[in-house]
Amino acid sequence: MSRPELRLSSGVFRANIEAVRTRLGPSALMLVLKDDAYGHGLSWAVETAQHAGVEWFGSYDIASGVAIRRLAGGAARIFAWVTSPDAEIDDALLQEIDLGVGTVDYLRRVIARAEALGTPARVHLKIDTGLHRNGILPEDWEAAVAEARRAERAGSIELVGVWSHIAEASDAEDDEAQEVFVDAVRAVAATGATPAFLHLTASAASWWRPELRGTLSRIGAFCYGIRSAEGPELEGIRPAASLVAPVTDVSDDGVTIGIGSFDGLPSTLVGSVVGTPVGGRILEAIGHTSCLVQGWEGAQVGDEVALFGTGDRGETSATTLAERIDTVGEEILTRLTPRVRRVVVD
Ligand SMILES: *Cc1c(COP(=O)(O)O)cnc(C)c1O
Repeated sequence: MSRPELRLSSGVFRANIEAVRTRLGPSALMLVLKDDAYGHGLSWAVETAQHAGVEWFGSYDIASGVAIRRLAGGAARIFAWVTSPDAEIDDALLQEIDLGVGTVDYLRRVIARAEALGTPARVHLKIDTGLHRNGILPEDWEAAVAEARRAERAGSIELVGVWSHIAEASDAEDDEAQEVFVDAVRAVAATGATPAFLHLTASAASWWRPELRGTLSRIGAFCYGIRSAEGPELEGIRPAASLVAPVTDVSDDGVTIGIGSFDGLPSTLVGSVVGTPVGGRILEAIGHTSCLVQGWEGAQVGDEVALFGTGDRGETSATTLAERIDTVGEEILTRLTPRVRRVVVD
């Protein structure tokens, strides 16, 4: 190894998926794949998840949804929720990608494109439950539902889902969000069939708040083994990825390893514990393409140092590193550049 590697364990990823599914059931798992599967790589994540029997994939944008369709084949359900231009709506319709719709303007554009192409759109209507991050306001909800139902009767859409996103910051706020959500579902049910897919929660709320789960749960972080910042360890969940760098030099000052801030490692992580063949050691300096690690007896060029991973060599997790610098584990993973080779190890 001459370059840093992000080692991906398919076995751990599958076991995490299984643990999440068992915990969430009967709510179904939608595996969220945004940001190149949280930095792990889309094709590995889709292929491995399909082996584990995952049927729903969340892509965020339509272009990624199209890439997932190519990888996953025709039977997978794919959900793209970012408000997108008309040309991309056309791609979504042709690739049978479900659309998250959080504004009336977007609803109208989706209906118009579906009419133009003669291909019905599968729509999940989003209610704003307080996060104010896209979503139809409660006061506009009834009118939006009426419009969606009219389009449904005309054959241009199918209203298959109602969804929202919550802050997962406090139980009280999440409870209030759920009340708004339940009212919104009730209003939809009063106008016709209740959509099959009701989804409100992501990793943390799905795991810790069973009463908030809908028929579907959108999960990214916990499937990859990324626990919440300041959150507890999770039973049956381990990091699916380990970041490993080679020892390139050994001197009296310490051990130099071949990874640096240009690879996406935040230079503010100085002082963190990393894993070595003899256990945890301090990361003493971070340069552009190399780091200095506290030395150990018998260190040799070619040894491996783990920046984060499962803990086998005394390293911590991406989330533990992130907590040092007041961010989340996802950021540590998604910052890694393409120079960090993704390698599947089992
Ligand atoms: C990222 C995201 C998720 C997944 O969140 P995790 O905490 O990683 O499980 C779910 N829903 C939406 C809308 C998201 O943007």
